[in-house]
Amino acid sequence: MEKLEEIVAPLLDWYRANNRRLPWRENRDPYRVWVSEIMLQQTRVEAVIPYYERFMERFPTIAALAVCEDEELFKLWEGLGYYSRARNLKKVAQVICERHQGQFPEEYEEILALPGIGAYTAGAVSSIAFEKAKAAVDGNVLRVVTRLTQDSHDIMDAKFRNQVTAELETIYPAEGRGDFTQSLMELGAVVCVPNGEPKCEGCPLRRLCGACSSGTQLQYPIKKKKAERRIEQKTVLILKYQDKTALRKRENKGILSGMWELPNIDGSLNEQQVVQWLTKKGLNVSKIKPPVSGKKQLKHIFTHIEWHMTCWIVTCENEGSDQELIWVTDAQLESEIALPTAFRKVYQLFFYSS
Ligand code: SF4
Repeated sequence: MEKLEEIVAPLLDWYRANNRRLPWRENRDPYRVWVSEIMLQQTRVEAVIPYYERFMERFPTIAALAVCEDEELFKLWEGLGYYSRARNLKKVAQVICERHQGQFPEEYEEILALPGIGAYTAGAVSSIAFEKAKAAVDGNVLRVVTRLTQDSHDIMDAKFRNQVTAELETIYPAEGRGDFTQSLMELGAVVCVPNGEPKCEGCPLRRLCGACSSGTQLQYPIKKKKAERRIEQKTVLILKYQDKTALRKRENKGILSGMWELPNIDGSLNEQQVVQWLTKKGLNVSKIKPPVSGKKQLKHIFTHIEWHMTCWIVTCENEGSDQELIWVTDAQLESEIALPTAFRKVYQLFFYSS
């Protein structure tokens, strides 16, 4: 490709005629743009839409988000995963209220200084909400650019990302900067798609694209293999006493920090070992069984870790003496408590088993 700047006009024309009507595109309010960008990290657009609408209805302003209860926030977030995103949203809302009088800061550096906001999100908010010439380079954009230019750099390399960001920022148009950012994202999401053949026949950049003209689309982007996920064995317990289930809080560090969890133990324990563990906590066990035959093991995948969970349903005769355990009803678990998906999957097994 001769010059990267040749992509600007056709991309803008295509985006303006074809972009998907998404709830966060109704206006350019920086708060709405920011929340959508955070929700869209690691999550598909279709999955985000109902969460986004509920979130905006409940927290229509930065001020409303800043004073919300954590439990309510996590409940709204339940199922989206990566709860640190929700925690950071609230933290940022508080910082904006304290340091910026509740107004989203306009300058890129100020946005980047907010907790949990990286170069991608800062670029997206700066350009979409404030029309700054700032690029937002994620996997979608890197795929488009490396195919266009047939670039064989590893897209996981931060230096290369910075280089692409800097190059794109030199071609930002004088007008329509927010649209330009979104046009690159949109092309990567719906035309120059991952996992399989891109839809080059409908691409506005077809005539400019190196990979398309040489038929090498699937060779790009180059991505070095990620390190293997670490496998952790866990024994997860559905402890029932009368109509209640035991929960406890996770430590305020590491994966799912501070979230509710079903009681669990490292390793894959058999019935006797589980009963011994519970007895030490002052719990009398009247019955222990696997959830359903053949479904004792469940797997949950996080970014870097895989949990292989051995699950047991335990009927108890008392609440025991462990101060960390709280006992909640099914109704409370459904309506008030945000239980991360890994544990909710296990908890659901109880209903298939009863
Ligand atoms: S022509 Fe094909 S490979 Fe090139 S940018 Fe468009 S969709 Fe991607």
